[in-house]
Amino acid sequence: MADASVMEQIVSLCKRRGFIYPASEIYGGLNGFWDYGPLGCLLKNNIRDWWWHEMVLCPPLGPDGHPIEMVGLDSAIIQNPKTWVASGHATGFADPMVDDKETKRRMRADHVWVRELAGIDGKRIFVALPVTNFAEAETAFDYWLANGRPPKELQLKLSMSARRYSPPAYNYQDRPLAYTNISEADRLCVHWPEAEALGTLTEPRQFNLMLTTEIGAVDPVKAYLRPETAQGIFLDFKNIIDTTRVKVPFGVAQVGKSFRNEVTPRNFIFRSREFEQMEMEWFCHPDEALKWYEFWKARRMEWWRSLGVAEGNLRLRDHTKEELSHYSKMTVDIEYKYPFTTPDFGELEGIAHRGSFDLTQHQEHSGQKLDYFDQELQLKLKEQGVSPEDIKAKSRYIPNVIEPASGLTRAVLVLLCEAFTPDEARPSKMFLKFKPQFAPIKVGVFPLVNKDGMPEIAEKLYLDLRTQFTAEYDAKQSIGKRYARMDEIGTPFCLTIDGQTIQDRTVTVRDRDAMTQVRVGLDQVKGYLGERL
Ligand code: ATP
Repeated sequence: MADASVMEQIVSLCKRRGFIYPASEIYGGLNGFWDYGPLGCLLKNNIRDWWWHEMVLCPPLGPDGHPIEMVGLDSAIIQNPKTWVASGHATGFADPMVDDKETKRRMRADHVWVRELAGIDGKRIFVALPVTNFAEAETAFDYWLANGRPPKELQLKLSMSARRYSPPAYNYQDRPLAYTNISEADRLCVHWPEAEALGTLTEPRQFNLMLTTEIGAVDPVKAYLRPETAQGIFLDFKNIIDTTRVKVPFGVAQVGKSFRNEVTPRNFIFRSREFEQMEMEWFCHPDEALKWYEFWKARRMEWWRSLGVAEGNLRLRDHTKEELSHYSKMTVDIEYKYPFTTPDFGELEGIAHRGSFDLTQHQEHSGQKLDYFDQELQLKLKEQGVSPEDIKAKSRYIPNVIEPASGLTRAVLVLLCEAFTPDEARPSKMFLKFKPQFAPIKVGVFPLVNKDGMPEIAEKLYLDLRTQFTAEYDAKQSIGKRYARMDEIGTPFCLTIDGQTIQDRTVTVRDRDAMTQVRVGLDQVKGYLGERL
């Protein structure tokens, strides 16, 4: 689904049906914060539980065909502030930011692109648009030139008066350029479309993305809300080694909230200021890091496919050298074709080779030894006749880390986008085609009418089914409306108790995708659903 209206429909459906609400809406909301409603948290929990199952409870077999070791963790959101100095976030975790002096709009400077116009009255002029990459910029500027106004989604982003829509009736010079890459002199020639004057955008400035808070009543100490869950895992590395039976290579997995003071939260829950991550740190011998990097790349793609995400909507993209985070030796992103990025892709998960950066940093800053004594390696080297000095040097090391880090809330968005299926033949005009495992409600149970013994049978059936499946009992409105609502929230099966049930103890089972109806014996229903869910 390529057009922006799909996103509008998804956002409106999420609100209307109780998946996602703007946070503190009665006070006008708060940009970048969202509440997950009754269905949203069921969907989110289903994804989280599947990740936990596939990572911690039943992790994949390793490259040698044997089980790998993985444990879980739930570390504190607020850690000692020294954590973030050691990890580099206090200085390095920043986005370039730019302000428009006239309208006071604040944006990420790397999300502003400019294109120079063929001289107007001999003056140099660049026009600017809020787009995130070269391809988007090229499309948007070409559209502006051909249609006299920027594409609709950019018009909505920009409060441009009709008067200012008058396009630059000139041919563009050159190719679009990132605002961060043009000279200081050229910046004075940039026309931000919402502003009257020229050169109203400030120089890009670094803006730290960590949210701060204060701890303690007397002489409060400044602390940070974690911007990633990963650091908690590094801080507990020694605790885990000392208190469990894991041996390198092993992984520690964690799901939890992270916070980033994003300059421009946008695209619904895609970029929020409070979000949830599912991160795993895989500790391995430095010589084996590349092998494990490839291993996790493949496993993580498989996992996304297991959510029912279409192959063509996923891709792997290696980071260029310039893109790499301060801690990373190499990174590959798993990307998804979101409705707002189509035909391009946007990040869903990053798999990073963090080397020994984090443990080394925390060792230096805390003064605590965070190296690992590899007893198995020691024995192996002994058997190989390696000298005692070499054995000593080689069997104690700081492990390397491979980190698959994904967004749980981004996964919710992906499943909503993936499931959204327009269908004019239905009263609801669309349905959510979730893979049944992830559907918030698995089965709806309805008495056709509220009399003739039907509610009693329906309620009994509901009470029985809910012990095994997430079920909903609904006796309100016409049966057509109840089916339509279940289609909108992606419930794979609906059971209706009708007149015939009273006679032959069978119920109508309606299938969400095919809209077919079959009759199944009351005592067979549980088995019937069990096979299909
Ligand atoms: P982006 O390039 O989109 O800003 P990132 O590379 O900074 O993301 P990571 O630090 O690698 O992201 O975080 C791992 C995952 O956490 C991302 O792949 C994404 O799914 C999720 N994530 C990061 N920032 C946000 C956010 N502001 N809102 C929602 N999810 C996020």
